[in-house]
Amino acid sequence: MKSPMVHPGPEAPWRTILSQSITAPRNLPPSIKTDRKALEAVTARYPMQINPYYLGLIQETGDPIYKQCIPDIREISDEAGVEDPLNEEGDSPVPGLTHRYPDRVLFLVSSRCAMHCRFCNRKRKVGRESMVSGGSIREGLSYIKSHKEIRDVLLSGGDPLLLNNGKLAEILTQLKEMPHVEIIRIGTRIPCTLPQRITPRLAHLLGRFKPLYINVHFNHPREITPAASLACGRLADAGIPLGCQTVLLKGVNDQPEVIMTLMQKLLTIRVRPYYLFQADPVRGTSHFWTPLQRGMEIMSVLQGHTSGLCVPHFAVDLFAGGGKVLLLPEYVVKRTPHWLTVKNYAGKIYRHPILD
Ligand SMILES: *Cc1c(COP(=O)(O)O)cnc(C)c1O
Repeated sequence: MKSPMVHPGPEAPWRTILSQSITAPRNLPPSIKTDRKALEAVTARYPMQINPYYLGLIQETGDPIYKQCIPDIREISDEAGVEDPLNEEGDSPVPGLTHRYPDRVLFLVSSRCAMHCRFCNRKRKVGRESMVSGGSIREGLSYIKSHKEIRDVLLSGGDPLLLNNGKLAEILTQLKEMPHVEIIRIGTRIPCTLPQRITPRLAHLLGRFKPLYINVHFNHPREITPAASLACGRLADAGIPLGCQTVLLKGVNDQPEVIMTLMQKLLTIRVRPYYLFQADPVRGTSHFWTPLQRGMEIMSVLQGHTSGLCVPHFAVDLFAGGGKVLLLPEYVVKRTPHWLTVKNYAGKIYRHPILD
């Protein structure tokens, strides 16, 4: 990384912004108050990468943006987390592809991200080993081609939108040519962390592969900037439905008001909340964990109090590869053969007939 850093303007090309990412604690700007020396030990194990756009969203030390991207000394003392809690490798018939559910696969097509989230659930790999190679992409595509039960392919990584347009189009074209693949999904944090990458040209390219669904990843209302709004608007205008996968993170967004504002703002940039995830028990991330109960409390503050469109599913990805399950706050207070006693969103109790 070159230092001193020149801040590119918001209109700078995305490659320029990305190339000015900070990867060494000593190169953090003076406004970031932290023990740079101590952080070197953290980044030796879990690399840091923060591009100037995302860095520019930090307003003060320890704020929700800071916590997502600046390393924390607790990452290397964490004993509670495990490397691969979702057992992605265990359900992986070929490298970089996880086939856990009957009709869909998770397919890693990029090793790189525009920013390294400190809570990443592939923290064991990101920025250190290559998750993906030309060979693993070829093998993944041929696995999908020969498994006719796969009707939904979810591209992830790293961030698929960091591939160059040619490579991305090549992968999408091959998937599109497989008649059993009905839909393609992309999971990306780019509209949040490097929205400049969503050029009119990229949006147009992606629009050629409909039905294509994109799940973006915003965790805090302050990430919803004019640049992020422009990026999401371009994708939506290209005919791509947008969902959001938010991760519940202690000190970042574990307050009901923060999640409520985030979900409401997402709808204004044409993104429909999809999942609110309990953070996975990944080694190096235990300082972000929230009690399960917190997620349910937050759901009960959303449900009924704001538009149903703002309410995501609260999902927990079960330990050791059990997959995602949805947890709901308990509304049923009592069950008798003919009546349910139910609490409504406002806490009032009603009796409701069971008709059967
Ligand atoms: C999350 C995930 C999917 C997609 O799950 P949906 O609930 O359909 O969004 C697919 N495969 C794996 C391995 C996953 O972790």
